[in-house]
Parts: sequence; structure tokens; C-alpha cells
Amino acid sequence: MDLGIKGKWALVCAASKGLGRGCAEALADEGVNLVITARGAEALEATAAALRARPGAGEVRTVAGDITTPEGRAAALAACPQVDILINNAGGPPAGDFREWTRETWIAALDANMLTPIELIKATVDAMAVRGFGRIVNITSAAVKAPYESLGLSNGARTGLTGFVAGLARQSKLASRNVTINNLLPGPFDTERLRSNTAAVAQRSGESFDALWDGRRMSNPTRRFGDPAEFGAMCAFLCSVHTGYVTGQNVLMDGGAYPGTF
Ligand code: NAP
Repeated sequence: MDLGIKGKWALVCAASKGLGRGCAEALADEGVNLVITARGAEALEATAAALRARPGAGEVRTVAGDITTPEGRAAALAACPQVDILINNAGGPPAGDFREWTRETWIAALDANMLTPIELIKATVDAMAVRGFGRIVNITSAAVKAPYESLGLSNGARTGLTGFVAGLARQSKLASRNVTINNLLPGPFDTERLRSNTAAVAQRSGESFDALWDGRRMSNPTRRFGDPAEFGAMCAFLCSVHTGYVTGQNVLMDGGAYPGTF
């Protein structure tokens, strides 16, 4: 299937590794020109080189910086001639006990996982509507459907974003102009973050990393973790010309782990 987005420009945030990189790879394969961001310049440049080497890839630009800061967002936006496709992503907040979180802890989580995507949507969405094409995908979490007990900061911030997006996506001045906003909800995907989270749990509990990793893998109906390439493929489809009638949706990719009928 031709996704029909060759030559468009995409800003893919937090894309040197993991799910963001998976999205950047899938968009590169469609001939989409990319601006990718991450804080660490070395990994970012290595990812950019790998993206440029993919068959059919367009232009790939890099912006090293923290996307959760106004300066980081301004630099990312300035590097993109026009944002036709916006993939919102950033690191997730830490796990912990809400009794220990201060106002500052909450503001940091809200800044990263709710207000940063909202700011980037605000900066790009009206121009998308004028041009008659726009695709926004927010990488959130399966925690929006079923909260993780220890990830209260993530549960709260991402659900706040989801509620906001549910209203915005349905504004006819966007939807009628072929601008869609959807959320992609990852369950467990094999990324550096999942491995480092598992290593932290192993250290706290005294269990071995391998036992925890295999236990988690076997608890999924698919008996495996998701592959960031699968995540990227779904993201690219949501960014395609074929999905103008899909907006305000929460697309769960968790191997069937969520036990609900709907
Ligand atoms: P990852 O493998 O650790 O990759 C994170 C990427 O984001 C890296 O490229 C990192 O590069 C970049 N990044 C992090 N913070 C950033 C910031 N403030 N500004 C710019 N770039 C930043 O993580 P992942 O597993 O792909 O997770 C991506 C998102 O999905 C996270 O919010 C995570 O909580 C969520 N999620 C993941 C899973 C999963 O199973 N993997 C499940 C549910 C939700 P630098 O560190 O160099 O900046």
C-alpha cells in the first residue's frame, strides 16, 4: 500500500532510540523528510545516519535538545520547513510512591508528557489546517487504558493529554481540513527504557533481570514483547493519506494484554 506521504515533512520527537526511532524509520521508508530530536547528540547522529541509508529515505535533519523545554521545542520547529506530520514523544516519568512526590515532581511530569505535546500541537495545527493536511500522533501508554500502580505520574499526565486531545481532535475546523490527532498506546515494547525499568525492579526486589524479563514476556498473550518496527508501521499508517476519517482515537498496541472486550 502506498501511504501517499512521500515528500511531506515530519517532526519526530525523542527519536534516537526506541519507539520514536521506530516511527522515524517507518516514515523514512515512505520517503517522508524528517527532523528528529533527542538530548544526546551522539546517538541522534548515529540514528540519522542509519535513517539516511534506508532505501527511499528523504532528507533527515537532527536537533539535539530537550523537547520538554521551550528552547528545545523552538529549535526543533525551526529546523522543519513545515510540519505536515508531528510525532509527539519524550521520556516517561519515573516510577514511585505518590506520597513522596512534590509539586515540582508533578510539574516535571506534566511538562514532559502533557504540556510539551500540547505546545507542539498549538505551534503546528493551524498551519496544517490551512494546507489541508496534517497528521499528529502522540505516543502515550497502555497506562491510559489500565493504569500501572507505580507509574502514577505517567497515568496522570498521559490521561490529561488524552482528555485534551479527545476534545481538540473533534473540532471541525481541524477534522474538516484533513487534520487528524490520534494517540498510540504502547504496551511492553523491547526498548532501552523497558530494559532499564526491568533492571531497576530487579535491583530493588533482588530477583534476577532474566527471571523478571521472561516472566513479563510470558505474561503477554503473544509471549513476546512488541518490536519498535511494528509500532512504527502503525504510526506511519496513522500518518498516511488513508486515515483522514480516523481522529481522536486511542490505538492500543499491547499484544492483547488489556483484558477488556472493547
Ligand atoms: P527509550 O528506548 O528510552 O527511548 C527514548 C528516546 O527519547 C531516546 O531517543 C531519548 O534520547 C529520547 N528522549 C527522552 N527524553 C527526551 C527529551 N526530554 N527530549 C528529547 N528526547 C528525549 O524509550 P521508549 O521505550 O522508546 O519510550 C518512549 C515513550 O513511550 C516514553 O514516554 C515511555 O514512557 C513510553 N512507553 C514505552 C513503553 C515501552 O514498553 N517501551 C511502554 C509504554 C510507554 P535522549 O535520552 O538522548 O534524549
